Amino acid sequence: MNEFSLIKSYFQSLGCPRQDVDLGIGDDGACVTLLPDHQLVVSCDTLVADVHFSSHWAAYDIGYKAAMVNISDLAAMGATPCWMLLALTLPTADPAWLEGFSAGLDTVLKQYQMVLIGGDTTRGPLSMTLTVQGQVPVGQAIKRSGAHVGDKIYVTGSLGGAAFALQLAQYPMVTPPHQKILQHQLHYPTARVAWGMLLREYASAAIDISDGLSSDLNHMAVASGLGACLQLSQLPYHPLLLQYAPERAHDMALHGGDDYELCFTIPACNEHAFLVAAEQAGLLSYCIGMMESLPGVRGLTARGDVVDILPCGYHHFTESSA
Ligand code: ADP
Ligand code: MG
Repeated sequence: MNEFSLIKSYFQSLGCPRQDVDLGIGDDGACVTLLPDHQLVVSCDTLVADVHFSSHWAAYDIGYKAAMVNISDLAAMGATPCWMLLALTLPTADPAWLEGFSAGLDTVLKQYQMVLIGGDTTRGPLSMTLTVQGQVPVGQAIKRSGAHVGDKIYVTGSLGGAAFALQLAQYPMVTPPHQKILQHQLHYPTARVAWGMLLREYASAAIDISDGLSSDLNHMAVASGLGACLQLSQLPYHPLLLQYAPERAHDMALHGGDDYELCFTIPACNEHAFLVAAEQAGLLSYCIGMMESLPGVRGLTARGDVVDILPCGYHHFTESSA
């Protein structure tokens, strides 16, 4: 199989056909049309075998997660996802692997009415770079830098489930159905796209939690020139984490990555309207703290003590994951 037949067989028509694509796969570039008064939001992520995923993972799962974590960045910007490009480096053209991988991508693209419009295919150690593109009404992209003192901090779902899934070998008492739920959380996260689109109107800042709440909230606080204080008793710990590893719940919910929930800030003047709109949309969220002028991230314990929370998500170029 050469590069061209490979593209034709596995990547030619992934996702949903879209009216706004004037030219898709097959030319030197793709050509798309934005809605009037909209801006393009673009983001890319690289996933490298045995760094971001194990090469033993099912190919479907690799495609699924690669697409989802990229779209999660568009969700965090409040963008409506539209198009994707895929730069794929493969050691061999294994039809079974390509079939699974492209099916994983296709599932996620269809879930968000997106389409694959181009890419690049090369031979080498397994890795992939996905570029996702979406659109927002001009000026409405949600930035990390927009939070103000007194804004409430919210998250869109439970925390620590994906981190717990990675530690399951240490917890043989977790029942097989519960193991399955946790593995599902790790392999099939959901990009909070509907949330992001609703938040355009109400949030002052947002970020998706890929590295861990401590680290990602710190990014948002630093970008906004502020600090943050969390009510630790209000954190939405994953229920299975509380059931099987309550002593680790705090650590995994604060510092574990891969949950892909959104963390966002709501100014007091928007809070009522935000809560009404979220309820009408059937979207659940949890208020976990408030933005403050003092830099750094802190936590208020149930006993009323304030503890410093050091950001410690995953970093590629540090010796440890500090
Ligand atoms: P060029 O040599 O002009 O860069 P390529 O031969 O790399 O073009 O690609 C041919 C067409 O196939 C282009 O439209 C490109 O966007 C698309 N393409 C290449 N690889 C992929 C891929 N992995 N997924 C989707 N489209 C791809
Ligand atoms: Mg070319």
